[in-house]
Amino acid sequence: MSLKRFLSFLAVALMAAASLVALPSQAQAAPNFKAPFACGQRWTYSHHSAEVRRALDFVRADGGVTNGAPVLASAAGTATRYSQPSGAGNYIVIDHGGGWRTYYFHLASYSVPSGAWVAQGQQIGTTGSTGNSSGPHIHYEQLYNGVGQNIRINGVALSYPSSYNQAYLTSDNGCAGGSSFMTWGSGVRVRADAYLSSPVVTTLAGPTAVTVVCQKQGDTVSAEGYTNNWWSRLRDQGGYVSNIYIDHPSAQLPGVPIC
Ligand SMILES: [Zn+2]
Repeated sequence: MSLKRFLSFLAVALMAAASLVALPSQAQAAPNFKAPFACGQRWTYSHHSAEVRRALDFVRADGGVTNGAPVLASAAGTATRYSQPSGAGNYIVIDHGGGWRTYYFHLASYSVPSGAWVAQGQQIGTTGSTGNSSGPHIHYEQLYNGVGQNIRINGVALSYPSSYNQAYLTSDNGCAGGSSFMTWGSGVRVRADAYLSSPVVTTLAGPTAVTVVCQKQGDTVSAEGYTNNWWSRLRDQGGYVSNIYIDHPSAQLPGVPIC
């Protein structure tokens, strides 16, 4: 090998060694974590001074009941049940691989057996107040190699307010599913929430194929000779439409979960 060739070989070898050395310090990319509660629901969250690690506590802020609300896996992984009556109460840890884990504390009940592989958006328990807790909430954490991280949902870092009703999160976890329906009518408004005072996010010009991910009761709407207080959350439009405009004879759609 000529000196010149040896030197270029040496340079390549050194670069390879440098990249190998750099690898362990580089955090594995986190899974695309989603909210630990059902598609379409809006919760508020806070972090208090006595909180462990970088936890956030979540309670519902959309008129729904926090106690008993489904707790969902924020990413796929292996779920393990734990119980710590003096602290975390009934809780589940999901191991997502690559050093990443999520914690869900104070569950009223478990929905999966220990060791179960769970899909993103799958229900793992119900919200409760077991253990050291002052009321029903989801205590949620994201850990990397055992160290609590600042929580990111859909890749976006959440804030850490010290009290509720300062920051809110609307879940798109599990929204990928849904049932197909047609709308009817023209100029149908899709609103940010199931209320006539909610901002219009888009308008359906005419009959449209839509995917309904969940439904809930909101303002009573009287139109086209019908009266109905059920609203459907549309996956692709990102808002709610009165069920009056869903082409189905039932006021509450069959087979569609409650938001
Ligand atoms: Zn907490």
